[in-house]
Amino acid sequence: MPLLVMKFGGTSVADLDRIENAARKVKREVERGYDVIVIVSAMSGKTNELVGWVEATSPLYDAREYDAVVASGENVTAGLMALRLQEMDVPARSWQGWQVPINTTSAHGAARFVSIPRDNIDQKFAEGFKVAVVAGFQGLSHEGRVTTLGRGGSDTTAVAFAAAFGAERCDIYTDVDGVYTTDPRISSKARKLDRIAFEEMLELASLGAKVLQTRSVELAMRYNVRLRVLSSFEDTDENSGTLVSGEEEIMESKVVSGVAYSRDEAKITLFTIEDRPGVASAIFGTLADAGVNVDMIVQNISEKDYDAAHPGAVTDMTFSCPVNQVPRAQKAIEDAMAAGKIQYDELIIDTDVAKVSVVGIGMRSHAGVAARMFAALSAENINIKVISTSEIKISVLIDRKYMELAVQALHDAFELERA
Ligand code: ADP
Ligand code: ASP
Ligand code: MG
Repeated sequence: MPLLVMKFGGTSVADLDRIENAARKVKREVERGYDVIVIVSAMSGKTNELVGWVEATSPLYDAREYDAVVASGENVTAGLMALRLQEMDVPARSWQGWQVPINTTSAHGAARFVSIPRDNIDQKFAEGFKVAVVAGFQGLSHEGRVTTLGRGGSDTTAVAFAAAFGAERCDIYTDVDGVYTTDPRISSKARKLDRIAFEEMLELASLGAKVLQTRSVELAMRYNVRLRVLSSFEDTDENSGTLVSGEEEIMESKVVSGVAYSRDEAKITLFTIEDRPGVASAIFGTLADAGVNVDMIVQNISEKDYDAAHPGAVTDMTFSCPVNQVPRAQKAIEDAMAAGKIQYDELIIDTDVAKVSVVGIGMRSHAGVAARMFAALSAENINIKVISTSEIKISVLIDRKYMELAVQALHDAFELERA
């Protein structure tokens, strides 16, 4: 029997009517002859509420109990979805992560898949069940504890099941009808893409486009899963939405195909650090030990090359990290200073910055993208604080108050509203 994976995000299962709407879509695929694995998120807002309860109870919480609480939202929607399908005469049952079992690492809050044994679910399909409803976002560690995969993780559950079960396609149903050139909530000129290459989607996701969790795109790329994003609120067919696929399937490719943003960034500068081998290692080793996810890094140019015979040269070091990690980063740096591991004159922290990025595989073979990007930002009088580039993306850190404006200006500058 051909098999489909259908994932419904939080807004798509936000209440009983929406669960019914989603169930109708599942039933239609069953009528077309598919066995279906349905992956559900928690009702929208539920995971935030659960996280809030954990933090209010225990600010420095035990990550295992965080996962025990936060995973529960998906258990509710999995059971309700199975019940709704049964009411529609579709033979269905639900699975929580541990029942499959979805084996993961024990990195609580950021667990990764180890294995997804098929036997349990295959046996139910063999017995005549048509739909397996699986709670997204959660798994089981080898210590027997409930784990979660990180925010947005149900996308990754869906792709992992599609890979494990050899699904014909993995359909991600959400509150937009596909992947756009930028977040349609920020720019009314955003254009829906029919197709996007894995590499571009990977960059967009990791640079902040939350329509797919980064890890889900990584897995889809590795296991060549046909991944599609489409609307749960519209009538859809095989051609709806956006197909995320290998580059060879993409017909035309613009130089830049999308603009992404990440709102909650911070910039930290250590002024007047020694310019000698080992200093960067001491700073970033300290931050890594404290679990800070450092993103962009800039070290000011040294006045002259390092020369062991003439010590005393100084420079500045700037890096960015998520704004909610600033307290941890600050403490780590100040502790390292107190312990004599690093030295600086001043620590400046700017928590009002955002990152805006342009992404496109066409950049590999086109020059001038950076110049065009910086010209568009300068035309709006937006100052660039930090720049970083890779083969297919350019990111800048700017004042957060200009974030929307920058996204719109870049969308215009690269003419993304036109196909
Ligand atoms: P779900 O709850 O279904 O997982 P998410 O809220 O995680 O949905 O992701 C969908 C949201 O992603 C959209 O509502 C949209 O605001 C946002 N988004 C950001 N960038 C993009 C983009 N380039 N294309 C489409 N949606 C985007
Ligand atoms: N409910 C989880 C979250 O809000 C997982 C998901 O929806 O993908 O992050
Ligand atoms: Mg999501």
